[in-house]
Amino acid sequence: MIEIKDLHKSYQMGSNSLHVLKGINLSVEDGELVAIMGSSGSGKSTLLNILGMLDNADSGEYILDGVPIKNLSETKAAQYRNKFLGFIFQSFNLINYKNALENVALPLYYQRMPRKQRQEKSLKYLEQVGLKDWAHHLPSELSGGQKQRVAIARAMAAEPKVLLADELTGALDSVTSYEIMELIQKINDQGNTILVVTHEDDIAHMCKRIVYLKDGVIEKDEKIEQVRVESHVQ
Ligand code: ADP
Ligand code: MG
Repeated sequence: MIEIKDLHKSYQMGSNSLHVLKGINLSVEDGELVAIMGSSGSGKSTLLNILGMLDNADSGEYILDGVPIKNLSETKAAQYRNKFLGFIFQSFNLINYKNALENVALPLYYQRMPRKQRQEKSLKYLEQVGLKDWAHHLPSELSGGQKQRVAIARAMAAEPKVLLADELTGALDSVTSYEIMELIQKINDQGNTILVVTHEDDIAHMCKRIVYLKDGVIEKDEKIEQVRVESHVQ
């Protein structure tokens, strides 16, 4: 599903250059649930943004579902991003003046899906995240955990090949974080490929594989015995 080879990325600041990714090699199969772990500033978001086609690498290869991601026009990149990728962020990134249903439906609107179909699909995914009864509420009327569920429904509604989550529990208390990870596990159980960036050890262990980033390289990459949330909470 994802194949990256010898990926490099630097940030230029005036005459200084910060080499953040120094030759990353990573391949992710269909259906995996992978945590990208590392301390703050280790380049996790930089890597995820490149995987998410929100940013470009300086060099190296990136192949997503058989498609080489290189030298794409803005339009083509946007097309692939909408078709292949779903994003979940720490800060939810919901639109405040739109209700839950409208937030979930928005990417479908950009895909030019007819209104009725958009509504049906959005409601189906809101139901999957346990928020069917909250469809007509604004984000301001929802708790942090509920907002993140809306964001997850929005990411899934477009039926992407890969879900990318950057510190998705970073703004939540630990009980709510675990509930969100339980949902992530269920979504992965259905066969969806998910990458979770986190600096939290307990969150990483709820995935099936942990990739450790340090000083711009992968220090360790191992399959783990997944901690199921339901057993963890009880
Ligand atoms: P993480 O997500 O692991 O905390 P980031 O990928 O956000 O790390 O950042 C890695 C390093 O790159 C940090 O030192 C950060 O300050 C720097 N950095 C990130 N984005 C930019 C940018 N747009 N311009 C300059 N430096 C950046
Ligand atoms: Mg980050």
